[in-house]
Amino acid sequence: MSPEKVLVVADSITVGELAETLNLPVTTLIGELFKNGIVATINQRIDFETATIIVEELGLDVELQKKPAAATTERVKHTLTDKAVDRPPIVAVMGHVDHGKTSLLDSILKTKAAQGEAGGITQHISAYQTERKGRMITLLDTPGHEAFAALRQHGATLTDVVIIVVAADDGVKPQTVEAIRFAKTANAKIVVAINKMDKESANPQLVKTQLATEHGLNPEEWGGDTVMVEVSAKTGQNIDKLLDMVLLVADLEELKADIDVPVEGLVIESHMETGRGSVVGLLVEQGELKPGHFLVAGTSYGKVRTLLDFAGKTIKSAGPSTPVTVTGFKELPQFGDVFTVVKNEKEARNKTEQARIEREKNAASTNVTGADMLKMMSQKHDSQELNVIVKADVQGSLTSVVDSLRLVDTGGQINLRIVGTGVGNISENDIRLAESGDTIIYGFNVELPPAVKRLAMRDKAQVRIFKVIYELLDDARESMEAMLAPEVVETEVGKLTIKGIFRTLKDEVIVGGEVTSGKVMPNILARVRRGDEQLAEAEVTSVQRQQQEAKEVFEGEMCGMSLKTNKKLVLEEGDKLEFFTRALVKRTLASK
Ligand code: GDP
Repeated sequence: MSPEKVLVVADSITVGELAETLNLPVTTLIGELFKNGIVATINQRIDFETATIIVEELGLDVELQKKPAAATTERVKHTLTDKAVDRPPIVAVMGHVDHGKTSLLDSILKTKAAQGEAGGITQHISAYQTERKGRMITLLDTPGHEAFAALRQHGATLTDVVIIVVAADDGVKPQTVEAIRFAKTANAKIVVAINKMDKESANPQLVKTQLATEHGLNPEEWGGDTVMVEVSAKTGQNIDKLLDMVLLVADLEELKADIDVPVEGLVIESHMETGRGSVVGLLVEQGELKPGHFLVAGTSYGKVRTLLDFAGKTIKSAGPSTPVTVTGFKELPQFGDVFTVVKNEKEARNKTEQARIEREKNAASTNVTGADMLKMMSQKHDSQELNVIVKADVQGSLTSVVDSLRLVDTGGQINLRIVGTGVGNISENDIRLAESGDTIIYGFNVELPPAVKRLAMRDKAQVRIFKVIYELLDDARESMEAMLAPEVVETEVGKLTIKGIFRTLKDEVIVGGEVTSGKVMPNILARVRRGDEQLAEAEVTSVQRQQQEAKEVFEGEMCGMSLKTNKKLVLEEGDKLEFFTRALVKRTLASK
């Protein structure tokens, strides 16, 4: 269900302002922050993510939306001239993990290849194009969460249609709901693809009922206005029909853009490549992009050196709704940055400098970030849990990996929680699932596609791939052991009875005495005892025997020593010192 209210707030907001926006007493908010380990005052700034988490924790039926950053506020929906031309629809494929987004995209692109038109996709970028009945459709790859946020921010002008993939044998799941919400807030049209229709357990009626009764998406055949197509990415069933429906729905929107205007669009991907430098994926929204153009995107700029289409073919120009790859940016622009064309390098430098100052100002004004908060929350809730996601090549191996992992969980000090499983390569969704907290993604006999790898690197997600099951299990065991707080081990070294006190300072005392057992040496610890009472703990900083520095002094010998204390310590003759060392020792899991 959509939230009751959508509130737009800035990138960072003070606790007081947020309370006002939410119409809540400030104390309620401060209390909630406190429960999450953040001591905040009314004037403290928290970032957008923290605000979102707090709203969720409070259980408010409100959705916060980020006000576009200063650099993008000038961005308005382009007003069209009467020379505007039709442009291809921009389509995002979304849905729950493992419901078949990747397979569906593959299937759509394969259809094209089968028609002998594609030059073969040589590289992975975040967007593709396909042709249907002489018309182009631009497809955005399954967005990872970062893509998601950026799409959301610019959603109103970017995504025209969202294909929501729902597996017919699994029904509506949390990420399905998320996708529906995304489509609605982005004002995009929805086409539902009920996938895996080749499966015997497929139950499209149930999916339709769930969508209609719980999410307000009524199938056309029931008199509603949501297009739903029953497809199979595996057999290719109805894929053409799906594309026809996408075009039909898009036609209701009259999608147009101008060509004779300065180029503008969005950065949809960026990475460095040896030999090529910065490789940046762009989606042109208006105008015609050509090699030689000077582009500015956020804090980076560059001159377009090469211009390639989605399949890696050199092209001379790219118009609206076209995804391209360019080289020539001096630094990597950020995902979601708007790019514009400028006259020359000087203008480019001025613009990026302004954007940089703006960004620094924004960053400096925030003192609690969502990342901090998630960390605190995970420390609070899950510090004794290792979360894992398991992906394997086939169902059989998945079952055995999962079963074996359950045996690694000794049910004791650390719990191993399997938060997701699936058959197939590691996907962007897995990375997204692993995003909140310490989660390891284990792959067994699967691959990590390059695009997903880049996302994982960006998000610092832990992905570990194994071909041998017991190596995977060893790794899980070691990861759990690493989470155990180390054990403090103290080892007794010797004892001494104090015979004389020579000097007592604020944090140092010099004494002499006889070693009664073991030995004493510099740089160890000492418990200071008087009778049964422990007076203090001190550190032996130096030891002397007959006015000479000594490395060790043994039982039966007399010596002097300097003790470092953390408070003034007044000793008496007859007090005893017990020398010991203290070490942190890694603990191992008790076996089951
Ligand atoms: P994603 O996580 O949504 O991208 O899902 P994938 O495309 O990776 O698909 C998840 C699993 O479902 C894979 O094992 C696919 O082979 C399988 N799958 C996807 N589409 C179909 C389909 O139409 N029929 C069947 N039987 N399996 C499918």
